[in-house]
Amino acid sequence: MNSYCLICNRDIRAEGSLEEMFYVNDCICSSCRAQLAYFPRTIKTPELRIEGLYLYQGLLRDTLIQFKEYNDEALYPLFLYPCAERLKRRYRGYELLPLPSSSQALERRGFKPVDLIFSLLGLPVIDGLYKKNDIDQKSRTFKQRRQIYGQIALKDGISLEGKKILLVDDIVTSGATMRAGYRLVRGRAAEVKALTMSYNQRFLSQPERLFQKIFL
Ligand SMILES: [Zn+2]
Repeated sequence: MNSYCLICNRDIRAEGSLEEMFYVNDCICSSCRAQLAYFPRTIKTPELRIEGLYLYQGLLRDTLIQFKEYNDEALYPLFLYPCAERLKRRYRGYELLPLPSSSQALERRGFKPVDLIFSLLGLPVIDGLYKKNDIDQKSRTFKQRRQIYGQIALKDGISLEGKKILLVDDIVTSGATMRAGYRLVRGRAAEVKALTMSYNQRFLSQPERLFQKIFL
């Protein structure tokens, strides 16, 4: 395994703590790991409970931007690294249904960030959702673009019957996109759950929506 921190490039073994020298079990150094706000919580929305892993802030936000917008594909393992084994046990038997990026974003990046982040779980992936109207956005007014932003749909011919579905996304800002995904698939699948790698820190100021219970 690579012993250089994926974020700061420090040699994890050479300069690490005694613990790191003997138990290198991460792809980033302990100093970077400590700066990522790993704060697993359950977010309660009107229809759906969403499990979230990190607060979208500071180094986590910077690293996600570096990964997605600067196409630093190699960063993908660090996000789920600390909890991949526990998530695998928790979601055994589920199939992943990633929330979609726009087709322009996919063309620009050449990879799907959400699919890559959750690839650590080793679960089957259903490429079943797409962003509606995202091809002709240029011809619309700003107001119209805002209205259609985030609208997603289920591809034709996708069967979810009898399946346990785990909706996944990289960030939950308001929960609206995740709920839209949920509305599309509930009733078609045997079970639907939702997991996001990060979530907006404004949920911290709404304790009635944020379960303090640590689920991992
Ligand atoms: Zn580091």
